[in-house]
Amino acid sequence: MVDTQTQYQKIKSEVDKAVIQVMESSAFINGKPVHDFSGNLCAYLGVKHTIPCANGTDALQIAMMALDLQPGDEVITPSFTYIATTEVIALLRLKPVFVEVDPKTFCMDPAALEKAITPKTKAIVPVHLYGHVAPMEEIMKIAEKHKLWVIEDNAQAIGSTYTFSDGRTQKAGSIGHIGCTSFYPSKNLGAFGDGGAIFTNDDALADRMKMVANHGQSRRYYHDVVGCNSRLDTIQAAILDIKLKHLDEYIDARRSAADFYDNALSGHSAITVPFRASYSRHVFHQYTILLDNGKSDVAALRDGLNSFLAERKIPSMIYYPVPGHKQKMFEQFNVASQSLPVTDWLTERVISLPMHTELDKEQLEFVSNKVLEYLNN
Ligand SMILES: *Cc1c(COP(=O)(O)O)cnc(C)c1O
Repeated sequence: MVDTQTQYQKIKSEVDKAVIQVMESSAFINGKPVHDFSGNLCAYLGVKHTIPCANGTDALQIAMMALDLQPGDEVITPSFTYIATTEVIALLRLKPVFVEVDPKTFCMDPAALEKAITPKTKAIVPVHLYGHVAPMEEIMKIAEKHKLWVIEDNAQAIGSTYTFSDGRTQKAGSIGHIGCTSFYPSKNLGAFGDGGAIFTNDDALADRMKMVANHGQSRRYYHDVVGCNSRLDTIQAAILDIKLKHLDEYIDARRSAADFYDNALSGHSAITVPFRASYSRHVFHQYTILLDNGKSDVAALRDGLNSFLAERKIPSMIYYPVPGHKQKMFEQFNVASQSLPVTDWLTERVISLPMHTELDKEQLEFVSNKVLEYLNN
């Protein structure tokens, strides 16, 4: 699905040098590259504070820990997302409230969000799934009206921009009160290991989150709140700082690959290619199509494509085969029977094709042709 090796070869000398420098400095924790990278990421995203941490899941957890929520408080989130988004809610003894997504953008449906708000609701976690930004303007309006926190799960959309109705643009992850991201190797800005970061423009929240991520201490060995230990390694920060300079180029490469797939596949009646809302600059963390020919059983059709491609050494993935509300982990909340028809419908039809920065025309042609060959037989 990804080719991090070819990408590495192109920046190898720069990366190798930076890694060796860290090893020679021995500043493995909180070294200068961590601060340099945080500063550069702030500038790139247009946010005041970046708090680096160990991974994207921690980023979400630290964000929620900093908000002083009480057990049983409700956090509204889509069911159609990676488990990390919703798992941390339950981990903190909060209640995940699953809402429907839009069938075109795969992101949180603002109407469903507003309906799900109760007096216990405290926060909203929109997810910019596959690299498409959720409708943030509407979500922020609803949040302001009901005085709710908004934490953007920006693990899949770093570098994407959102355009407001007045023409103003802002980077995804910088619109809510807090933004969270992951530097997992396959993400659009991927480290050579684990990493994550939290963004905010709020000084008090930034202090609080720094404290939470550092054992709840504001001064060494004085611990004010129960926190955790979550850091970005200096080596990873040094690598990420180099890759950040290439992020826009990487996004362009993903968008070109998506354009190619769109051209090749959009004419086929069994395929719905990814939708691009005018307000979102899609950064294609995934290229995910919907499969339905109106005749075959959708599950059999999709499984068939997955094996047909696998036999030809083309990877394809189902993100995600089981939506949150149907996960055993959440049985405690009695959500399995919740009616989320769009989520269920999408879960049955999505399939993601290889998407990364190193796809050439020949590979894209090969993948597209094989998809079409399968559907036409
Ligand atoms: C990857 C991902 C995360 C978690 O990031 P990790 O670094 O793997 O902990 C959270 N949310 C979404 C939507 C993701 O894709």
